[in-house]
Amino acid sequence: MPDTSLPNSWDARAKAHSFFGFTDLPSIAERGTVVLTHGEGPYVVDTDGTRYLDANSGLWNMIAGFDHPDLTAAAQAQYAAFPGYHAFFGRMSDQAVMLSEKLVEVSPFEDGKVFYTNSGSEANDTMVKMLWFLHGAEGRPQARKIITRGNAYHGVTAVSASMTAKPYNAVFGLPLPGFLHLTCPHYWREGRDGESEAEFLARLVDELEQMIATEGADTIAGFFAEPVQGAGGVIPPCDGYFDAMLPVLRRHGIPIIADEVITGFGRTGALWGCESYGFVPDAIISSKALTAGFFPMGAVILGPELSDRLQRAVDVIEEFPHGFTASGHPVGCAIALKSIDLVMNGGLLNNVNHLIPTFEAGLAKLAQHEHIGEWRGRGLMGALEAVRDKATKTPFEGHLSVSERIANTCTDHGLICRPLGQSIVLCPPFIMTDAQMEEMFDKLSRALNKVF
Ligand code: PLP
Repeated sequence: MPDTSLPNSWDARAKAHSFFGFTDLPSIAERGTVVLTHGEGPYVVDTDGTRYLDANSGLWNMIAGFDHPDLTAAAQAQYAAFPGYHAFFGRMSDQAVMLSEKLVEVSPFEDGKVFYTNSGSEANDTMVKMLWFLHGAEGRPQARKIITRGNAYHGVTAVSASMTAKPYNAVFGLPLPGFLHLTCPHYWREGRDGESEAEFLARLVDELEQMIATEGADTIAGFFAEPVQGAGGVIPPCDGYFDAMLPVLRRHGIPIIADEVITGFGRTGALWGCESYGFVPDAIISSKALTAGFFPMGAVILGPELSDRLQRAVDVIEEFPHGFTASGHPVGCAIALKSIDLVMNGGLLNNVNHLIPTFEAGLAKLAQHEHIGEWRGRGLMGALEAVRDKATKTPFEGHLSVSERIANTCTDHGLICRPLGQSIVLCPPFIMTDAQMEEMFDKLSRALNKVF
């Protein structure tokens, strides 16, 4: 644990001038701030020299670990060649041109177009503005409502936070009007007593039909879904979910957007989460693994129909008035090109598929614990949900959730994993070895035995 006693400690200095987001303040008051200086493969190292195995890949993004030489080399070469440029006014870097070609090539789309942002939140905001613009231009200015699902996480900007169905956003007076949230498709938690999974799914489809009927199909701009919900606690949808929901949306002409900020580039075992669930959306939101976390970057990847319609609409006004200073930054694009190469040709995706059986077996084994109600996951993203009573699924009470106590104990054992609600979430880097995976489960198991 970091030394919090010295007035000039890294912890004291961090607390003096850093305003913390998404941080449990009582926890860092008691335990101190972990200040990191560098990484070695899947490990990060703090100012005291303590090494932590990061089972969460940073924030789901560092798929190639923290010091991958090829990514560093790609960044260095591009910094030396051309350190920065935007993608507007008829100018853009050669790297952005090449990355757009590559993204369309590896996407599930036959053809399409790409728009760059600096983050996943901004990519979701951009997509919403594209939909509002499109519907307005096509004579449906009333089509402004956005449908997402309970427990969804789409980001923190005012629009993407409104799409995010988390109660904490109430402190900002969000969601904004017109952001509608369906039931989270988590059968284990949301299914009613005696309801089968098929009946649960039928209820969700009915809810969607009802929502569209009540709101009016012509008022809805789009439906956004993470193929596997990530920050909601790693929640794969119930069986048959997308197969049953998407035809309803299609029938009403509602665009379907896959938020693949976490699931994109191999996390679920296929290149895209939508591929794992057998559907092709109208557009994909990407970030995080897009640059293996080596550069802040996001992208909207438009499929052929949406991009053609948008292009026709924008041709009328001759300019799409939207973008960010660093959109299409050449260093980010060069890193993304290298990262995609590593995933597809450099063995990362193969290693994900090699690791999945061990990962699932490790989660299933820990789920035998009397206080783990459920394990769930898809590919290399998984969660263990803690319960006080396994039979009734009753959660633990108290300010510091039991998942936070488990995560803190893991940190004491040199393992970083993430508490999300009542769950402990694991999202290991794609470069993990079998031995590191064993170390991860061993440390987590020791932490569970200590807390319970
Ligand atoms: N969408 C999803 C599915 C995410 O998981 C996240 C971040 O975790 C975002 C969007 C927001 O991305 P960012 O934090 O880069 O703004």
